[in-house]
Amino acid sequence: MSIVTRFAPSPTGYLHLGHAFSALMAWRRAREAGGRFLLRLEDIDPGRCRPAFAEAIQEDLHWFGLDWDGSVRVQSEHLSDYAAVLDDLARRGLVYPCFCTRADIAREIGESMAAPHAPDGGSVYPGTCRLLSADARAARIAAGDRFARRLDIRRAATEPLRFIEEGVGAVLCDPAGFGDVVLARMDAPASYHLCVAHDDALQGVTLVTRGNDLRPATHIHRLLQALMGWPVPAYAHHRLLTDASGRRLAKRDRAATLRDLRATGIAPADLRRRLETDSA
Ligand code: GLU
Repeated sequence: MSIVTRFAPSPTGYLHLGHAFSALMAWRRAREAGGRFLLRLEDIDPGRCRPAFAEAIQEDLHWFGLDWDGSVRVQSEHLSDYAAVLDDLARRGLVYPCFCTRADIAREIGESMAAPHAPDGGSVYPGTCRLLSADARAARIAAGDRFARRLDIRRAATEPLRFIEEGVGAVLCDPAGFGDVVLARMDAPASYHLCVAHDDALQGVTLVTRGNDLRPATHIHRLLQALMGWPVPAYAHHRLLTDASGRRLAKRDRAATLRDLRATGIAPADLRRRLETDSA
C-alpha cells in the first residue's frame, strides 16, 4: 500500500517554524516513499479562520519548497459531509444536545468535589445535559435555546481500541477519559475531531504526522473511526519546536513566521536543512 500523508493547518494565522517542521515531516515521509502528500485547510471555525491566511499558507509552503498532490481540501466547503456523520451518530443515540454555557460548566465543575481532567489537560464535561429527558430537550430546542452537540462517550466507547504510534507500537485508547466531547456547535457546525477523522478516512491518509500536542486527541479520532467503520491510519506524533527559552512556538511569536524568515533573505533550502538537522 502506498503511503499518504497530509499537512492540515487551520488558517488562523501565518505559518510559523513549528508548522514548517510539521509540514516537512509529512512531505518528506511521502516523498521518500514515492507516496502522496496532501494539503488540507481546517477552516471550520468561522470566528478564527481567515481566507487571507488560507492563501498565505499555500504561498508560504510553495516558497518553502513543499509541493502537494491533488487539490487542497477546504473543510468549510464540505459541511454537508460532516453533518451526515453527525446525523448518523445521532440516529444511533450517540449524540445529545448540550445547552450548558461555559459559565454553567465552570460552575458545575467548581461545585463537584473531584473534577477530573481530560488527557489533553482540559476539564471533563460533567454530563449535565445527558440526563435531560427527550421532552425537556425538545422544549429547549423549540424555545430557541442555543446548544452544542456532544458525543455520549460511555455509550460510544464500548470496546477496547488501539492505534499504532510509530516507534512505540500499539497504544490502548482511553476515549472515556475525555468525557462527552463536543462534536458540533452552533457557530462551528463540526468539531476538529469529527472533521479530522472524517477527512483522513475520506482522503485515504495512511500515516498521520502531527505535533505531540495532538497525541491525546488521537484517542477520540480512533473512537470515531471505530464508530463509523473508517480505516485506521498509523500515527507519528513529533516533538514540538521550542524557542531559545524552551517555550513552545506559537502563532503569537511573530518572529518565527515563515513570512518574516523569508523577509530576512534566508534560502528556503537552508531553512529546510536546518529543520531536518534539528529533527535528526
Ligand atoms: N488543524 C490542526 C491544527 O492546525 C491540525 C490537525 C491535525 O494535524 O490533525 O492544529
